[in-house]
Amino acid sequence: MVPPQTSPRAKQRRGEGQWALGYREPLNPNERSKKDDNPLNVRARIENIYAHRGFDAIDPADLRGRFRWYGLYTQRKPGIDGGRTATLEPEELDDEYFMMRVRSDGGALTTQQLTVLGEISQTYARDTADITDRQNIQYHWIRIEDVPTIWQKLEAVGLTTMEACGDSPRVILGSPVAGIAEDEIINGQPAIDVILERYIGDPRFSNLPRKFKTAISGLQDVAHEIHDVAFVGVNHPEHGPGFDLWVGGGLSTNPMLGKRLGVWVPLDEVPDVWEAVISVFRDYGYRRLRHRARIKFLVADWGPEKFRHVMEDEYLKRKMLDGPAPETLNQQRDHIGVHRQKDGLFYVGAAPIAGRVSGSTLVEVAKIVERAGSSRVRLTPQQKIVVLDVPEGEVKTLQADLAKLGLQSEPSPWRRGVMACTGIEFCKLAIVETKARANDLVSKLEANLADIVDGVTAPITVHINGCPNSCARIQTADIGLKGQIVTDDEGNQVEGFQVHLGGGLGLDAGFGRKLRGHKVTAAELPEYVERVVRNFVAQREEDER
Ligand code: SF4
Repeated sequence: MVPPQTSPRAKQRRGEGQWALGYREPLNPNERSKKDDNPLNVRARIENIYAHRGFDAIDPADLRGRFRWYGLYTQRKPGIDGGRTATLEPEELDDEYFMMRVRSDGGALTTQQLTVLGEISQTYARDTADITDRQNIQYHWIRIEDVPTIWQKLEAVGLTTMEACGDSPRVILGSPVAGIAEDEIINGQPAIDVILERYIGDPRFSNLPRKFKTAISGLQDVAHEIHDVAFVGVNHPEHGPGFDLWVGGGLSTNPMLGKRLGVWVPLDEVPDVWEAVISVFRDYGYRRLRHRARIKFLVADWGPEKFRHVMEDEYLKRKMLDGPAPETLNQQRDHIGVHRQKDGLFYVGAAPIAGRVSGSTLVEVAKIVERAGSSRVRLTPQQKIVVLDVPEGEVKTLQADLAKLGLQSEPSPWRRGVMACTGIEFCKLAIVETKARANDLVSKLEANLADIVDGVTAPITVHINGCPNSCARIQTADIGLKGQIVTDDEGNQVEGFQVHLGGGLGLDAGFGRKLRGHKVTAAELPEYVERVVRNFVAQREEDER
């Protein structure tokens, strides 16, 4: 009998590099590097070899690959303009200094930890510190010689850089007000703590097809729609508070919203269910092409029903309970301003511009928080900072002290709504400047739009990316700006942005529309945003976002 012919397309699909289907042979250099040596082993080489012998001794496979598993990226050599980013080899872009991300899952920090973070920055990072939209602190200008000492200082206060980047379970987003918000459905922080203890640094999950981003919140305040896996607080009519499970969201150049699996997960089962999801990803995720290796492509091909069945049958070995969808909210919460906690104390959210602070600022914040009688702060997915547990009588003084540090708890809508990624100052993939542009944009909008500020009833979000990746989540902003080189009126190639309009999460979650040919030069940006906002405020219908 003649065997049936297999179409080329079917052959290709089976050859996506899925371990569970027998494709164990690495199919690209990244997979080869991870197979050659577990990336977690690079720590010993940093401590025992590279920190002593210096930058030039670092194996390129470690430098541009495995270092990420400890939150380390080489930063961009100063002075290389964005038009050359795509034309240079990696070694031509590499500076001998590093960006370093420190894990703070759920953005949770004590004042002791904040002080140590600030002091490390002052001593080893030229006083740099950015609050990222993954609730982390990111340093710049780190020397390889100083990395072991920095780790010792971080670990002495319970912080780590382990799996802050790389193809690993990265920092878990959690509600900045977990456990204290009056309207929280359930506190997700205990589940985050168990996942950290059980699985971060576990070699079983340190070689994933790509990065794996988790969000867990009893409030809808962590952009759950765009995570690889998300647990969203929901009330089950029979079983009470628990979580609704979403998988397969993500942004970058091929954005997709996560899909509900239709299950209800009680708090104490979240870690086991998380393990099942990450195991499906590890074993069935596509490893052949890196741009198809995120879990969203697997979920898009399988659909949520098949994903759920594989989880239940092959990993959990039991069925999960069906569950309801969470109530859809009208707007994402950023926790800015003064809010009462359920225990009668207050929390105060304050805004730097686009997450840019400094080590000195962090040290000062820790002092004023302690003076106000608290010891807890939170970083937010909107690059903001929240002080928890403030007695009512201390609120006004704390607000004034924060404002002196450039952290405003009653910010303009622009300061409140602007986010920016790292950009060309330090990022090797960047095409344009972002942080300084955000700063300039906020100053100009505050000056030029003062006359209509009362008409802006909700923050208008402006997210600025330095390249087509989406570290600042441009597709989810009211005005999303993707950095690229554009042609100005005189025909010059200059820094500018492709504009996306009307993105958002929550009630009408969807990605901003990229209008063909709708580009703006960096120099024209403030005037452009001003025009869009004026038109929106003049023409909006009631409750229109
Ligand atoms: Fe770098 Fe691009 Fe990410 Fe910005 S969006 S931090 S430029 S990779």
